[in-house]
Amino acid sequence: MSTSPVIRRKSRPVKVGHVEVGGNAPIVVQSMTNTDTADVAATVEQVFALARAGSEVVRITVNTAEAAAAVPYIREALDARGCNVPLVGDFHFNGHRLLSQHPECARVLDKYRINPGNVGKGSKRDEQFSTMIEMACRYEKPVRIGVNWGSLDQELAVRMMDENARSPEPKDAAEVTREALVVSALQSAAQAERWGLPGDRILLSAKVSGVQDLIRVYRNLASRCDYPLHLGLTEAGMKSKGIVASTAAMAVLLQEGIGDTIRVSLTPDPGGDRTLEVQVAQEILQTMGLRSFAPMVIACPGCGRTTSTFFQELAARIQSYLRAQMPVWRSAYPGVEEMHVAVMGCVVNGPGESKHADVGISLPGSGENPVAPVFVDGQKTVTLKGDRIAEEFQAIVEDYVRNRFGAPSPTTDSRQTV
Ligand code: SF4
Repeated sequence: MSTSPVIRRKSRPVKVGHVEVGGNAPIVVQSMTNTDTADVAATVEQVFALARAGSEVVRITVNTAEAAAAVPYIREALDARGCNVPLVGDFHFNGHRLLSQHPECARVLDKYRINPGNVGKGSKRDEQFSTMIEMACRYEKPVRIGVNWGSLDQELAVRMMDENARSPEPKDAAEVTREALVVSALQSAAQAERWGLPGDRILLSAKVSGVQDLIRVYRNLASRCDYPLHLGLTEAGMKSKGIVASTAAMAVLLQEGIGDTIRVSLTPDPGGDRTLEVQVAQEILQTMGLRSFAPMVIACPGCGRTTSTFFQELAARIQSYLRAQMPVWRSAYPGVEEMHVAVMGCVVNGPGESKHADVGISLPGSGENPVAPVFVDGQKTVTLKGDRIAEEFQAIVEDYVRNRFGAPSPTTDSRQTV
């Protein structure tokens, strides 16, 4: 198992459904649907797919009366499929009305996400926000007070800008805005506590879209409270840019022990697979040695010594095979998520890297003998050749999993919910 030098910031634990966030709990992976919540079938399908991919909490938007009315049916359909993943309702503008007028929605959700910048303006703000907190108190639900750069409480921001302008040594506007995000989250949490929501039912987030801003905001927030923190770079973007930006920002904070739950906010391609955000979140945590979710494939990048695409194909095949097995393997083979499999392109680093892995194969590079030595637990066990190397290697991996992880182990992380 990977060892990590990270010392986690101390936060008080909060229960979100059956999942504990903060305290000594492992860092929780979350995701969010992009279906119309009023479309029960589509939302159930996507929540199920996200949970099956490993999302431990799933957020759904609750923006209309139709969406609020659909929530109990979504919960019921998920339960009927054996999926007990906690559901979080994302509320803005009309959340006070939706929660009051749809008690079943308020009851079946496991957490409410409230954005203090979008709960109402002027004199309505406190009244509407307090209604939502009252509903959380009545149904004993935790609340994430989720501040966002794009919807920062404007009255607070303007007031802080004015105060800054009058101060003898004004700070730059970006610094004041970052401070306003933190203040908005902390003041809203204090207000919620004054209205009766226990402190151990509050989580905070303060999302921005810039990597350096996110790091500064969360360092500040982490030093000023002990609520569990939900990390995420908002509007991270598409494809590699979204993945890199999210990883760059969150890795710095996670390494400093900041963050009790994470979400990677990727913009998917039209019709693209929403579960990629779960996979990326898991891979951030796993590659940092903070949690394990699925066996890792170590593959070299390939170079001029590789003569065909066979090596890339085998690495991709093994990676997707291992990930596809996890919904079943998770319970059948406890500890399998710690396994390392090496797929290497030639003799230069192949045998060495294969020996470090649990199971490894070194494929023949350019000009090498067309054979592929296989290593199991550091020992060369067989040399594969011919047209069935991929199938035979996969069978070796399967045997290894069965033999090594077949017995129950107390080290299992059983937080997966599907
Ligand atoms: S292991 Fe071989 S094929 Fe792979 S990158 Fe290194 S030299 Fe190239």
